[in-house]
Amino acid sequence: MTLTVDTLTSWMNNFADKIEVNKQYLSDLDTPIGDGDHGFNMSRGMKAVREKLTTKSVDLQAGFKNIAMALISTVGGASGPLYGTAFLEMAKKSSSTDDLGELLKAALAGIQNRGGAKPGDKTMVDVWSELVPEVKAGTLSKDKIERAVESTKDMVAKKGRASYLGERSKGHVDPGSESSGYLFEALLETEGL
Ligand code: ADP
Ligand code: MG
Ligand code: MG
Repeated sequence: MTLTVDTLTSWMNNFADKIEVNKQYLSDLDTPIGDGDHGFNMSRGMKAVREKLTTKSVDLQAGFKNIAMALISTVGGASGPLYGTAFLEMAKKSSSTDDLGELLKAALAGIQNRGGAKPGDKTMVDVWSELVPEVKAGTLSKDKIERAVESTKDMVAKKGRASYLGERSKGHVDPGSESSGYLFEALLETEGL
């Protein structure tokens, strides 16, 4: 699966729609195990991304860079730099490949380098590490996305704000995993991918 500026733009617009529709829900997920702002953070960020993408980027690399900059400068919190890093790494990687699986693999490595989380730590890494191989294999499905997001519910958080709660972080879906689930759902729905 190869990505172009046009498919990247539809993917991001669809992601922005999902964030907008679910921003209250994402912040509600962040309330018992965080500070209740994840949906609002992401909504601010994706509005900025949408703005940026109204002017067509010259190529895939410029597109990724624009998205990364918009996210880094507007989202804030823990998730802003992490999503920002993901898109910056995809920008770098896009000079050598336009294969979506390869790009996402670079993004995941960037998130892990930046945040130090491993699978099982109840962070967005759980969703990314589960689903990037599915994208690579061409086997991503809505069901797999839901399962990956849901799997964070019974985990004990080891990174981020939720980790302050220790065992009490159990029983709640991780908000960054839910928003990442929307990113993969938006990808799955993008025509031409
Ligand atoms: P903050 O916690 O600063 O308010 P957000 O609420 O926007 O930031 O984002 C919280 C999400 O960020 C978490 O649900 C989790 O998925 C993700 N996150 C936090 N710390 C890390 C980390 N070290 N590595 C990966 N993801 C992380
Ligand atoms: Mg928060
Ligand atoms: Mg916060």
